[in-house]
Amino acid sequence: MALGTPSTRTDRARTVRDLLATGRTTYSFEFWAPKTEKGERNLWNALRRVEAVAPSFVSVTYGAGGSTRAGTVKATQEIAADTTLTPVAHLTAVNHTVAELRNMIGQYADADIRNILAVRGDPPGDPMGEWVPHPQGVRYAADLVRLIKESGDFCVGVAAFPEMHPRSTDWDTDIRHFVDKCRAGADYAITQMFFLPEDYLRLRDRVAAQGCETPIIPEIMPVTSVKQIERFAQLSNAHFPPGLKERILAVKDDPAAVRSIGIEYATEFCARLLSEGVPGLHFITLNNSTATLEIYENLGLHEQS
Ligand code: FAD
Repeated sequence: MALGTPSTRTDRARTVRDLLATGRTTYSFEFWAPKTEKGERNLWNALRRVEAVAPSFVSVTYGAGGSTRAGTVKATQEIAADTTLTPVAHLTAVNHTVAELRNMIGQYADADIRNILAVRGDPPGDPMGEWVPHPQGVRYAADLVRLIKESGDFCVGVAAFPEMHPRSTDWDTDIRHFVDKCRAGADYAITQMFFLPEDYLRLRDRVAAQGCETPIIPEIMPVTSVKQIERFAQLSNAHFPPGLKERILAVKDDPAAVRSIGIEYATEFCARLLSEGVPGLHFITLNNSTATLEIYENLGLHEQS
């Protein structure tokens, strides 16, 4: 399919499970639901640019603590109705009763959205604060996977952690819980951001050693500014390579040079992951698709879309 050729309706109605089953590498992009009019314009500019390369799917995150509940549902429904893109809606269990979760799943079914990424979510405010389940809610992502699967013909993704989930005390327990989540019905997983290919490869080997074949799609976060390095440290426990940090800090007063190093690193990182046979690449866009599309182009992927 040439650059700019939209996917057909049949492609669009497909699930991520179907796309992965073709054996073709998936290329996908993550957005967040905007809270302001300006944010909405940014989102749609970015979505339209991404639509031109006909990605496999796009996902819309669910704000911490359910803060973008209505926005996520709205953005996902609009993507399904007004674009050629296949949307995946993130859903979290934080602060929700099972009845509310069922209601939201029902809204997705009504809008013909069959792809949901089921993550437990972190407590609002401090992501490492105490996680208290809603008394009428669910406790773990595996429970959410079961709830969605019981509610209809959905394709469900889950989260995976190349550097172990920050609340897990050891790898064996972490992998056991991940595999349980897959056996609860997850069709695929997307990882937390990470910066060293070896972390992904070790996770993949550990999961495979438990006889679990659920495809794990790595998530790619290009670094385009110095500020992001600190922000990533706050948002995730991802280990930032010291060599990359040094190279970026050496040119910290030259934003174009910082961006160029970040994009070069992400391009090489993606190329290595592709050479290791990853099932797909999922790009975080921060609702600005320019950097991710540049990496996409550097990898020669726009020629294959
Ligand atoms: P779980 O799989 O429930 O795991 C959480 C912890 O509990 C782990 O330590 C696990 O080992 C442990 N555990 C699991 N089962 C059991 C059990 N039976 N007994 C004891 N311990 C157990 N957050 C948002 O708020 N909105 C989003 O849109 C969002 N999208 C994300 C997308 C991706 C790709 C990723 C990687 C993360 C995303 N997150 C999002 C963040 C996510 O909600 C947090 O990282 C959360 O802490 C973990 O969610 P989980 O689904 O992996 O939880």
